[in-house]
Amino acid sequence: MQQTNEALPREILDSGTKLLVNLCSISSASGDIAGVRAVAERIAAELARHGLATEVVSEPDDDGNVLPLLVARGSEAGVHPLLLVGHLDTVLDAVPPRIDDGILWATGALDMKGGIAMLIAALDLLTLRGETPPADIMLVCVPDEEVGGTISERAVRRWGQGARALLVIEPGERRGDAETLVAGRRGLFEWKLEATGRSAHSGLAYWQGRSALGAVADWAAQAQRMSETGPGVTVNVARLVGGDTDFVNGLAANHALLGTSRRRNVVADRAIAEGEARFLTAADGLRILGRLQRLTEGMAATHDLRMTFAQGMSVPPVDPNGPGAPVVQRVIQLAAERGWRLEVEDDRGGISFPNYIADPAKVAIVDGLGPVGDGMHTREEHLDLRSFERRIVLLADLLVALAPRD
Ligand SMILES: [Zn+2]
Repeated sequence: MQQTNEALPREILDSGTKLLVNLCSISSASGDIAGVRAVAERIAAELARHGLATEVVSEPDDDGNVLPLLVARGSEAGVHPLLLVGHLDTVLDAVPPRIDDGILWATGALDMKGGIAMLIAALDLLTLRGETPPADIMLVCVPDEEVGGTISERAVRRWGQGARALLVIEPGERRGDAETLVAGRRGLFEWKLEATGRSAHSGLAYWQGRSALGAVADWAAQAQRMSETGPGVTVNVARLVGGDTDFVNGLAANHALLGTSRRRNVVADRAIAEGEARFLTAADGLRILGRLQRLTEGMAATHDLRMTFAQGMSVPPVDPNGPGAPVVQRVIQLAAERGWRLEVEDDRGGISFPNYIADPAKVAIVDGLGPVGDGMHTREEHLDLRSFERRIVLLADLLVALAPRD
């Protein structure tokens, strides 16, 4: 990795690193309400220095806990803000941070106090250059992302849908001598398949039976085979339960039948499978839904029994070729102008902030803007301070590039 050709002034790097170490020293595991609030207040104080209107508001979660949510607004942050999002919580509680040879070993250093300290240092850098961030900038830091919390989901849905751009300051990744930026995230839908056949004695009347278990197993094998490597769709059959109707409908009571000889002579007339499908574009989601529905009709006919397929909960995808693509290209260009290389992650796994927006296809989204490291969610978590340095400059340059044009 090359050096940035215009190094960050030492004073900004030092104060940014000091702030980051300080944030990492405050233990803020999900559910540690006092710790999460202390982190929120520390960040709020830093943002207030830059003239942002900051508040730490109390938000209830679904379990009745009241957690702090940090909201900071520039003077013109209205309904279409330039929105940055991050989270205050960590998976583990804090241990004392340690810097060794350009690496910061600390809980939350990578995920994602590094991204938050990066933002504040980028604002400091702009001030030093005599520049200002876009007046419509807004930052939302949530308290429960690491537990997939409802406050995170609600906050991103509320402020994200109208945003003119959504910048997620979660970490990128190292990729050889480059680093990454995240452009795409898969969406998913859950599904459930049920089949009802005809029970019969497998010794006396086998051909009069219709095996729901056989049909659902056939369906499951074909559905899994619809999975495509690369950017395509995947189908996961997570559970399959089959047997006679009493066995399936009373599984909890009847599981002791497993391993015995009892009722093996009954054609299995009831089966249920459930799982999920994942996809990178809305069109792919519709395509796989249609294929699974047609597979169900075909299987019901082939096996001469009743099958129903139902789509359940769904999460929209972030299409890497959606409205965020031009901004992603701009960020890559800004890094190149500073002498280092960013690559695009088109397909980052897992559900995260951008998926919470009701329709991510309408918002310009750039994810993975935060500095890189390794060991996320473990005691080995660490952050590369050289990446921290590069990305402070990158974010400052990006904020200038994203200034609203009249
Ligand atoms: Zn994170």
